[in-house]
Amino acid sequence: MKVPLLDLKLQYQSIKNEVEPAMLKVAESQMLILGEEVDKLEKTIASYLKTDFAVAVSSGTDSLLMALMAIDLKPGDEVIIPTYSFFATAGVVARLGAIPIFVDSEPVTMNIDTNQIKEKVNSKTKAIIPVHLYGQCAEMDELLKISNEYKIPIIEDCAQAIGAQYKDGRFAGSFGLMGCFSFYPTKNLGAFGEGGIITTNNKELADKLKQMRNHGMNPKYYHKFIGGNFRLDALQAAVLNVKFPHLEIWHQRRRENAQLYSELFIKAGLSESEGKINFDDKNKVLLPKAVYQNSDCKNYHIYNQYIIRVHERDKLREFLGKNDIGTEIYYPVPFHRQECFAYLNNNDHDFPIANELSETSIALPIFPELTKEQIQYVVEKIKEFLSR
Ligand SMILES: *Cc1c(COP(=O)(O)O)cnc(C)c1O
Repeated sequence: MKVPLLDLKLQYQSIKNEVEPAMLKVAESQMLILGEEVDKLEKTIASYLKTDFAVAVSSGTDSLLMALMAIDLKPGDEVIIPTYSFFATAGVVARLGAIPIFVDSEPVTMNIDTNQIKEKVNSKTKAIIPVHLYGQCAEMDELLKISNEYKIPIIEDCAQAIGAQYKDGRFAGSFGLMGCFSFYPTKNLGAFGEGGIITTNNKELADKLKQMRNHGMNPKYYHKFIGGNFRLDALQAAVLNVKFPHLEIWHQRRRENAQLYSELFIKAGLSESEGKINFDDKNKVLLPKAVYQNSDCKNYHIYNQYIIRVHERDKLREFLGKNDIGTEIYYPVPFHRQECFAYLNNNDHDFPIANELSETSIALPIFPELTKEQIQYVVEKIKEFLSR
């Protein structure tokens, strides 16, 4: 049996009949940049996430960069971010000459540890960027408290969390000053190329972002500030508009796959329960825990990734690879250990949880079209490895 980490061809087959005419329509129109399809996408996403505005842009990375440009982040300013995330979260801060201030992770959700934020706040702090990692919301109550107390805006990195709900039912991207999303093909809602979107309830910001994505131009060839080419293609928007109505069922299948993994791992004696933190036993795995699962919301976790933790991670990965099971390491190097951030002189001992995560976490296949048999095979092979 073969189990790829992700097989986008299967999803394509299931929507081919809808998506091809939509793409052809854009081709026939030759209206290729922004336009009707992009307007429609913005309305759809704003209404889905219950925000007043959504501004479609060129990528998730650019959405974060634009959000920081929109708050006029200056060289020397500081932005608080988790040290354990995809590189874009840190890269955008440094690209603007600002200083990324790293915070360790909370061990169960693997999101930013909100208990360690206050001690890093000072007069230079201009924003906090929590990441809703793998598709589960960061601890927003705590983050909003800090944001209100110190008057520091929150910019949410929702790249992996479109549709993810917090325990009160509110959606990722509707808490902070802005929410930044990616339509990279591997995200739960993926384009046929690059894309992103920024949500906000602030009209002034929405207008500014729309101008910013077009070089800060308004009216034509007059520039009051410097933006960039951050526009979304009509083709990408057309694909996303076709895909959007399928998103809920894809979320649901990912959740069901995650539940099946958990059941099977527990049944196989490889874990006692989800999120059990102490896994001293070298032959056990640590399962992800959806911490908002018991609240009313449906999408308490959208499982963009299904991450388990295991001691001999690299050997397990090699073993699974030999058995045709695709896996990935998200992420092998936390920001404080990246060569490009050596100039920040962070102390490795300050980030024990992120260090542990980078050494033990492994992503298993979780995509919606995965079969029960494939999931059973993955768990069987992991059991085989751990009992060898
Ligand atoms: C994917 C991702 C991004 C960047 O999105 P792109 O569309 O690839 O630029 C940013 N942050 C996180 C956490 C991501 O997973």
